[in-house]
Amino acid sequence: MHEDLGCDVLIVGCGVAGLYAALNLPRTCAITMLSKGALEECDSMLAQGGICVLPDDADYDAFFEDTMRAGHYENRRESVEIMIRSSPAIIADLVRLGVAFERDESGGLAFTREGAHSRPRICYHADTTGKEITTRLLDAVRALPNVRILERVAMVDLLVAGGRCGGALVRLVAPEESTRTAPELREDAGACFRVRALRTILACGGIGGLYDRSTNYPQLTGDACMIAAERGVALEHLDYVQIHPTGLYGEGPGRTFLISESCRGEGAILLNRAGERFTDELQPRDVVAAAIREQMRIDGTDHVSLSFERVASEVILSHFGTIRAHCLEALGLDILHDPIPVVPTQHYFMGGISVDADGATSMPGLFAAGETACNGVHGRNRLASNSLLESLVWARRAAWRISTGASLPLPLPSGNHVEQEFAWTR
Ligand SMILES: Cc1cc2nc3c(=O)[nH]c(=O)nc-3n(C[C@H](O)[C@H](O)[C@H](O)COP(=O)(O)OP(=O)(O)OC[C@H]3O[C@@H](n4cnc5c(N)ncnc54)[C@H](O)[C@@H]3O)c2cc1C
Repeated sequence: MHEDLGCDVLIVGCGVAGLYAALNLPRTCAITMLSKGALEECDSMLAQGGICVLPDDADYDAFFEDTMRAGHYENRRESVEIMIRSSPAIIADLVRLGVAFERDESGGLAFTREGAHSRPRICYHADTTGKEITTRLLDAVRALPNVRILERVAMVDLLVAGGRCGGALVRLVAPEESTRTAPELREDAGACFRVRALRTILACGGIGGLYDRSTNYPQLTGDACMIAAERGVALEHLDYVQIHPTGLYGEGPGRTFLISESCRGEGAILLNRAGERFTDELQPRDVVAAAIREQMRIDGTDHVSLSFERVASEVILSHFGTIRAHCLEALGLDILHDPIPVVPTQHYFMGGISVDADGATSMPGLFAAGETACNGVHGRNRLASNSLLESLVWARRAAWRISTGASLPLPLPSGNHVEQEFAWTR
């Protein structure tokens, strides 16, 4: 057993939710953060398409309706309003932290579009938006003197006394347990110790590691949900799992490479074995995934094709450079000319640890944010590019509640407010 540690706030997870929570807590607060694998092995680093924002107040109703429709109207309406109203302030903060979103000719934010969005409202950085955002957040957190990051240290249980959470029991993880090959073996792997904390935030990401075919990192195995369930914390909608229509087909075992929905948003089309279109590519993810599965059944195949023939080559080169390079290297296919094989793949978890509008769980002292948590914003099916946004919004709200004991007030719905948020980012 290693020596126990103590802190004010323990944050379990170093994806966007965990990092942004740390940045929004007071500098007087002693914070310990855990990462189960290497720091860069979080799904936040993999996000391609982008992050939604309310571009102007005139879009509020449409953004709300798109989110609700994709979620089959099972979304918690209060959460949808919080997410959308908070989005301009979140994007402005990311710009302040140095995130380089693409710009239009006038210097304003450029917006791309994805499936089930009635208009472009997605900020992006080429096809590596998640890496751009997460790297900036990580740089900012690393500069904080009040934060200690423990890499390859996994939560294995919660510390609970008198019904209240007081931190976590953790275990040192050997590098070979993580996906990345590491040169050295950790001699102390397996050792456990306690991290005691006044408040604990669970930000452990999704559950893709439990599936044979997933776009997630394999070490994301829903640990927080399982531990919370064993400790009697309320969970919600554990059967709400999102299957993404277009994982790249044909690679070996391991994480499936995602072909971003923004490819279809920019005009890429799905083709059956005969080379014909068979569905509207811009419907919600679950509808497109079901159409692909049905087409595979009709054709007797185990994939369909995605063609970029309607996407301008300048767009492919400027927007989808990483996807093009990956397809070339993995399958020898150039999306400038060749259709690529795609198949529905596990991607996202809409359910999770039940939280309120401030990320508080049913256990005093315990909060949750990001994909691990369920605040009901996505309903039964998440709208593309709402996840990074939701993770950041609830991370900030949990940090605010922990710091002040109060709920973060919602920005007022005024056109001026949105303009002000963006004005100084230009
Ligand atoms: C390929 C891909 C593309 C995506 N594209 C988009 C997109 O364009 N737009 C969008 O909005 N969303 C996208 N998503 C979804 C989005 O990236 C994630 O939902 C979001 O990043 C989750 O952030 P998070 O902080 O909750 O979790 P993560 O970023 O996954 O971080 C989880 C953290 O928890 C740690 N952890 C897990 N278990 C333990 C444990 N037991 N002990 C200690 N630490 C633990 C991990 O080590 C990691 O640090 C995409 C997802 C994938 C996989």
